[in-house]
Amino acid sequence: MSEVKVRFAPSPTGPLHIGGARSALFNWLYARRYHGKFVVRIEDTDLERSSRESEENILSSLRWLGLDWDEGIAAGGPAGPYRQTERLALYSQYAEELLESGWAYRCYCSEEELAAQREAQLAAGEMVGYNGQCRNLSEAECQQLENEGRKPVVRFRVPEGKVLTVRDQVRGDVSFDCHGIGDFIIVKSDGIPTYNFAVAVDDHTMGITHVIRAEEHLSNTPLQILLFEALGWPVPEFAHISLILGKDRAKMSKRHGATSIQQYRDLGYLPEAMVNFLALLGWSPGAEEEVFTLDQVQEKFSLDRVAKSPAVFDLDKLNWLNGHYIKHSPVERIADLAVPYLRQAGYLPETVDESLMAKVRLVTIAVREYLDYLSQIADHAGVFFTDPGYDDPEAQAVLSGEQVPAVFAALREQLTGAAALDEDRARALLKQLPKELGLGGKLVYQPLRVGLTGKTKGPELYHLLPALGPAKVIERLEKALGSAI
Ligand code: GLU
Repeated sequence: MSEVKVRFAPSPTGPLHIGGARSALFNWLYARRYHGKFVVRIEDTDLERSSRESEENILSSLRWLGLDWDEGIAAGGPAGPYRQTERLALYSQYAEELLESGWAYRCYCSEEELAAQREAQLAAGEMVGYNGQCRNLSEAECQQLENEGRKPVVRFRVPEGKVLTVRDQVRGDVSFDCHGIGDFIIVKSDGIPTYNFAVAVDDHTMGITHVIRAEEHLSNTPLQILLFEALGWPVPEFAHISLILGKDRAKMSKRHGATSIQQYRDLGYLPEAMVNFLALLGWSPGAEEEVFTLDQVQEKFSLDRVAKSPAVFDLDKLNWLNGHYIKHSPVERIADLAVPYLRQAGYLPETVDESLMAKVRLVTIAVREYLDYLSQIADHAGVFFTDPGYDDPEAQAVLSGEQVPAVFAALREQLTGAAALDEDRARALLKQLPKELGLGGKLVYQPLRVGLTGKTKGPELYHLLPALGPAKVIERLEKALGSAI
């Protein structure tokens, strides 16, 4: 087999969505697994809906996911340019070739004429499609129509009576009867190529060996094969990956939650969790294991483990995976990523100096086990940055215990003038306090928790003490005692 070359060819008509990201990932994995090349090019022939802003969003989302490309937009390469609107001359050249060889012809039918043809076909109970009116126009007839001011489109002459079989590496053989295809447009009257034509020219001129894309393009594939064959080009391999459905088995949409990669990024999902999750959307490693790095998936990825049936988008699973990566990543990284969310919640100033950053790391250690995604940190971190109140009746009940003053005094004693309060020391202190006071654990820990947080539930005490620091601990306990009724 020649060197594998795959591509991701997004239309920049919106941000990178889950489905697009999954297609990009599968192509990337295929390229890496077989030591081939991954190309990213831009299909911007829908002039009205395409924008540079969407293109930027797509590329930055790919980079954030860690999906680098060897050739293409922004990277350059031998088959550039990699944006379709910059390749128009190339499409014209191949359209000319098809016109000359008779595989294509100019069609002058107006919108109204096409609509009338359609009506007539429907009325006669015939299959709807171009009726071939301009198929056999002579030069003179064409000239005549052009003199009338008509601007032609270029149509491909679909062979009659042919059955085309797509050898799909995921779906198996899928046959299409050419009779149902109809002569399709390859160049519009404004000179812009249609998707099927541009994609075939690009795939060939870029040397693409495997076309891995969403199932919705399966019905376009016979049209592209016809073009490859007419131009005398080898046909690439195809693999169409299944739709992504919501948990309710309806097609994935905004109703099912965030749909763009950017939204997940903004909510504080980690890229490694996203790619891990995306890899499992339609591919399975054949074992129970569900947590993988990109490097690990890369070693195992193959198209024969890509499912034919639709993939189900399970947000709980994504949350679980993300929570897993949040808990197991170096705390420095998670703390750095948490800063914007804490700042947004008003807990951090614009500039965070090293001592405050040290506190953010301790806060991260204390709360990360409760997070599905990082923006949730704002809901858990308040207690570390704002002094609590003690009005809650449950808190009052705990603080009015007769042992409470002694418990607080004992901790204060231990903390005054003592060495730095790290987690180990906090654990040791907390272990020793009940013994020292001759009290059960609950009678010691409950009031401390309430004194420090105003609540009966929350982060572990051995995380709270170092994160607050001795001075703050003493201050809060005093305030709590003062507020006990
Ligand atoms: N531009 C198409 C899309 O965004 C890609 C089609 C293809 O991969 O052939 O769906």
